[in-house]
Amino acid sequence: MCKVIYHPKYSLYNLGEGHPFSPLRSEMVIDLLEELGVMKAPEVPEPATPEELRQIHSKDYIDAVEKASAGETVPNIDKYGLDTQDNPVVKDMALGARYICGGTKLGAQLLLEGKARRVLQFGGGLHHAHYDSAAGFCLYNDLALGIREMTNRGWNVAYLDLDVHHGDGVQEIFYTDEHVMTISLHETGEFLFPGTGWIHELGKGMGKSLKLNLPLQPFTEGESYMSVIEKAVVPALSWFRPDALVVQAGADPHYSDPLADLMLTTQDFEVLYRRVLELAEKYTKGNILITFGGGYSVTATTRIWALIYHIIFGLDLPEKLPEAWRQKWSKHVKGEMPEFLHDPPNPYMEIPRKPEIESQNKEVVRRLLDAVSTDWW
Ligand SMILES: [Zn+2]
Repeated sequence: MCKVIYHPKYSLYNLGEGHPFSPLRSEMVIDLLEELGVMKAPEVPEPATPEELRQIHSKDYIDAVEKASAGETVPNIDKYGLDTQDNPVVKDMALGARYICGGTKLGAQLLLEGKARRVLQFGGGLHHAHYDSAAGFCLYNDLALGIREMTNRGWNVAYLDLDVHHGDGVQEIFYTDEHVMTISLHETGEFLFPGTGWIHELGKGMGKSLKLNLPLQPFTEGESYMSVIEKAVVPALSWFRPDALVVQAGADPHYSDPLADLMLTTQDFEVLYRRVLELAEKYTKGNILITFGGGYSVTATTRIWALIYHIIFGLDLPEKLPEAWRQKWSKHVKGEMPEFLHDPPNPYMEIPRKPEIESQNKEVVRRLLDAVSTDWW
């Protein structure tokens, strides 16, 4: 049983004209799926309350966000990561973020109550939001709230962060928690925001060896990426055997993303998400909650999220994108709206130092497994 979650008020989480984390991306995906005649009626969440958010954020921080969002002055606002280029203060942003948090929480509840086994949240993935500060376009951590909803009911949860940036906020919030395994594949922090996500960040106390990081080389392509999934993610899930898998499905590992340097194509995303669903069937009782996330090439991101929707629902992938949809949204994208769902074959130039990149990624997997081996087996 598959369900989708969305509320039009997610659009209140709009950090301004020209800001890359645009709510238009979700609206475009929904419009595309409607145009293709496959969009199901979404489940509609209530906004999370500030009290509920206390499970994952400090009271000071929540008060600061709510006040700033209402136009009130917040003393020392910079200590909360607010009023920056990445996280500007925008009216009603807090309410928008709380609707998004309510959506991911609802996704968790649908799994907990057995009303769905696969859930796709048409927004969220605010993985950089920390316990007491905003960062990287993220205000409130919807993923952490959804995961907390499940651990509150006695579930163990694996969180798989496939965004190109390290899932630092989620890792931090559950750093000592033995009921949550976090796994993040990302471009190495040597070159990319937020500069964390190293192998030695393994968790602490009861959470030790449950926080896994796979910092990948720039220009990593699909084959090497999938090898990391097979060699590191599969044994992790096989060992931890969680009750549910939560996936942050950022589309920014795509080769055309303007903010990062991994080289996945839409064909790679298809292979990846078919495999992720297989892994959920095998190791997490089929329970899987997928959120959106980063993704700043709008033409790639909308195609990737539409592709994931089709895979979740077991639908055949359309070859072409509807002409009406391409026309309607063409003014919102840089360049031309593609004609096909998939990228053209061999869309980028040959990658220099490909064997070296592959062997460095293999070494990352080896070092990570070595670091956890005494705790796991
Ligand atoms: Zn990202």
